Amino acid sequence: MLKWKNIIGTADRKPKSGYDSWLDFYEQNSGKSSKTCKVKGCTNKATVGAHVRKARLRKNQDRSWYIVPLCHSCTHIEDMFELNADASPVSVRLHK
Ligand SMILES: [Zn+2]
Repeated sequence: MLKWKNIIGTADRKPKSGYDSWLDFYEQNSGKSSKTCKVKGCTNKATVGAHVRKARLRKNQDRSWYIVPLCHSCTHIEDMFELNADASPVSVRLHK
């Protein structure tokens, strides 16, 4: 199962105009609701479109940054975590 990690130090990053917030960026690009935290097993309300990346990077693996809705507490997970199967993280590459 693919694991993810929070990217530290991204709180100041703002989405470009056309998006109200990173949650809005997620909804517009994934076509999914951003109401609930996407961490597997978590049912809290999502408060932020968090920057995450795939864990356990090896050479030539995907180093992209993604946006996924997380609750306040899950944005502070320092270890690796799994996302729900329907999480559909949105690559920040779309943000250009
Ligand atoms: Zn959560």
